[in-house]
This record gives sequence, C-alpha cells and structure tokens, in this order.
Amino acid sequence: MLNLLHLHTVNQIPLQLFNSLTRKLETFQPIHAGEARVYSCGPTVYNYPHIGNMRAYVFADILGRALSFKGYRLRHVINITDVGHLSDDADAGEDKMERMAAECVQSIWHIAKHYTEAFWDDIRALNIRQPTRWTIASEFIPQMIDFAQSIAEKHCYALPSGLYFDVSTVADYGRLARQQSTQGEGRIEPVQGKRNAADFAIWRRTRPGEKRQMEWDSPWGRGAPGWHLECSVMGGHVLGFPFDIHTGGIDHREIHHPNEIAQNQAFCCSAGLAQAANSGARIWMHNNFLIDRAGKMSKSAGEFLRLQRLIDQGYHPQAYRMMCLQAHYRSELEFSWDGLGAALVRLKRLRMGVERLQALAPPAPHWGVELAPWMDRFDAAISEDLNTAIALTVLEDMVALKAADPGEKLAAIAAMDAVLGLDVCGLDRAALRIRPRAASIGEQDIEAMLLRRGQARADKDFAAADRVRQALGEQGVEVMDGDALAWEWRLGPPPPAP
Ligand code: AMP
Ligand code: ZN
Repeated sequence: MLNLLHLHTVNQIPLQLFNSLTRKLETFQPIHAGEARVYSCGPTVYNYPHIGNMRAYVFADILGRALSFKGYRLRHVINITDVGHLSDDADAGEDKMERMAAECVQSIWHIAKHYTEAFWDDIRALNIRQPTRWTIASEFIPQMIDFAQSIAEKHCYALPSGLYFDVSTVADYGRLARQQSTQGEGRIEPVQGKRNAADFAIWRRTRPGEKRQMEWDSPWGRGAPGWHLECSVMGGHVLGFPFDIHTGGIDHREIHHPNEIAQNQAFCCSAGLAQAANSGARIWMHNNFLIDRAGKMSKSAGEFLRLQRLIDQGYHPQAYRMMCLQAHYRSELEFSWDGLGAALVRLKRLRMGVERLQALAPPAPHWGVELAPWMDRFDAAISEDLNTAIALTVLEDMVALKAADPGEKLAAIAAMDAVLGLDVCGLDRAALRIRPRAASIGEQDIEAMLLRRGQARADKDFAAADRVRQALGEQGVEVMDGDALAWEWRLGPPPPAP
C-alpha cells in the first residue's frame, strides 16, 4: 500500500529514462493511461545463461519495479527464443538451437525445455519478478507467417535461401545503431543475391536435402522464421504497436533491434524515426555489458560463468543482484570474485541493520513526515534513469538513521526494497554465509564445535580453544573472531582466482 504522502511524491518527480533511439533522457509518458507496456528480448535457450545475460534481466526487472513504484500497471513480456537465432546476430552462421541439439544428440524441444527451465531457475534465484507473460517463439509461427505476408510485397524479396527484408524500403534504417548505411558491416558468409549487405532473412528455407528438427510450411517454402521477426511479432501481438518500452542488452542496439524496428516500420507505416513511436516502441533501452577480464562471459569460448557457479562457490545469488545494482545499468560492469564478495558483505550489513529494526517493532502501515525526505531522495534517484547505485545509499543511510521510529522505517524500507528487490526484510542471514558446495562438514557440526570452543575460551582454556579452531581449519572452516559482521565462521577455501 502506498500512502498518500508517497503518491504525492511520485506524482511530483517524473520518471526519466534514457532512450537509445534519441540518445536522450526522456520523461516516461505512457501510451495507455496508467499502464506501462514493456517488451524484453529474452534468451536463446540453446545453452545456460551466463551471469552477463542475467544482468539484462536484473535491469528489466528494476525497470518494471520502478514503473510499479510510480503507480503504473505493468504489462511485461519476456520472450524465449527457441528457434531461429543464428550464431551470428546478423544473418549468417549456423542455427544455435539445431547445432546444440545435434551435438548433444537430443531433440531440439528437449534442449529448449531444459535450458528454459535453467533460465527460470536463475530468474527465481535473483528475485526477478515474473513478467506478465513469457512468450515462446515457436508458439507464434502462424502469427509470424501472417506478419511476413503482410510486409512481403512492399518490403521483401525471395531468394533460394528464403525471404529477405530490403532495408532500403524503410526510412532511417539503422538509426538506433547510429549507422545509417544499408551496407552493413562486413558480414561473414554473405548470401548470394542480397540487395543490400544489411538485408536479413525473415524466413529461412530449409536447404534441399536438409532435415531440420524445427521447421514449418510457409508461402516461401518449408523452413523457420528469422530471429528478428520473432520479437517484432511477439511484441506487437501481445502488447500492440506502439508499446512503451523495449529492452535488451547493448549488443542488440547494433543489429537485432535496428532490424526489428525496420520490420515494425514496414508493418505499421514505413514512416521515419523522427517519431519514435514509428519504431514500434516509444523508448528503446539497453543495459551495458558485464565483462570479465578472464573472458568467461562468452559462451563460444567454452567455459563460461553461470549463476550456479557463484552459488557453488558459496555466494548467495542475491550478492550478484547487489553487484548489478551498485553500477548504473548503462555502465560497463566488471566481474571479479572480490567484487562479488564485497557485494555480499554489503548485502549482509544491510540485512543485519533491517533485522535489528525488526527486533524492535513490527512494520508500521506507513512512514511519516520524518522519513518523507528519504523517500523523496530515493524516488529522485530511481527517477533519474534508474540510478540504483544512489538509491542503495539512500536506503542504507535510512536504515542507519538513529532517531526515527523503527516501525515507520520498516515501512519505508519495504517500499524501497520493492524497487531494488534485494529482499532485505526476508533474507535468511545464515544463507548469506559463504559456503562452497564442495565443503564436507555440515553446519550443525560446525556450530557444535564452535560451542565447545566458546566454552573453552570462557573457561580460559585457550589451548583447547585453539585445538578446536585448528580442527575446524582442517575441514576448511575459517573462524572469524570479532568479525563486525558476525559472520562467525565461513567455509573456505576462497574461490580460485578465475
Ligand atoms: P542472448 O541469449 O544471447 O540473446 O542474450 C540474452 C540477453 O543478454 C540479451 O539481452 C543480450 O543483449 C544480453 N547480454 C549478452 N551478453 C551480455 C553481457 N556480457 N552483459 C550483459 N548483458 C548481456
Ligand atoms: Zn529480441
């Protein structure tokens, strides 16, 4: 429940979002009163997501939560790409799904299901809210064919390999990438007969003699849709053109989204992009990359960093969410184990502060005038293009505030955390301990030994206390005396240098 004071506040500070199409901050103004419609490009489910991919969904989640905070009803769609994405984002290479299915000697449907579920596990672990709808690309094939048919005559041409979109038929092609040329950028494996290098397949015909696991009949032969077509169709179909906001990682600003925009223009009006809504969405937003100097953020390089790896090393997944929120979504963020450890400590500190308040009072229904300026500061940070880094410090400062009523503070904390999604009111403190999965000793045994050690120290038998400490050390348990964060112990060994 938002109190009146809060509503007053959110009406005062307009939400500013950076639109990649105009390269400017713009005030969010919903197309449908009181509602925000958002489409986020989802993963291609041919493999596990890496933690960089998950940054894109933490960002989309923060956007959705911020829109809810501002009082908008949110209609959020995230798609699952289970068909059509080639190894090159443009129009070349192999089909990612078909290749993985062949390598694993598995049905492609099985591969898609397995990796979709793994992705959803990560979504839950990071406390990312469920979108209003997950759309699965392979469930929209008839709509894709209808869409392609409606633009084929004016905007497409057929080649033996499929139906191609002629990018010179729409105004301002490539504006999103700030690359107006229709020549593309030296694509690999050029397709014979393309009119412009940047033209792309919206329907790919199965090659003669080839049998694909996923293929459908179409007016352009048996085959599969192009990747860009999917998002145009799922977004337009479920949210209606134009919708409010389209999100994705910064890589999509270069090829995927310009191509989606070209299709949307063809479908809607073909008019230029001076009017952002002609692109199919009013605002296009892109999160910057999570990078790793060790090169573990690329699936093609073999081993890559999954959220599960972080969990196996003993880190609570919310430490990764904290790491993301410490940076602005438009900044590059470098992953390091030390950085992750620091984010975990920060999260734990925050959780402990909230725990102390919870021990003092139940949350009040509202916060009062005393805390209103803190809510204003928080709101101002979020309203400035989702500045979670500042919003976090406002939350921390408020938690640490001395004189205020603890119940009212808890009410304000809950409202702030509804945007940040760190679950600071509910996280289990014990789960924030670093405990690698490979550890051989159970927590009950550790606690029992620590009790014996505490007793020995109380009896001033320091030799006995040291023996227990050593015995724990041999099992990888580091006892952390006098630790201000009350970690008390943690299970080592620390993560290997990546
Ligand atoms: P994909 O499954 O390759 O389509 O990627 C899913 C999402 O992750 C897309 O929005 C990408 O733009 C985004 N993405 C890919 N790599 C990274 C990265 N290293 N950091 C942040 N986002 C990424
Ligand atoms: Zn997409």
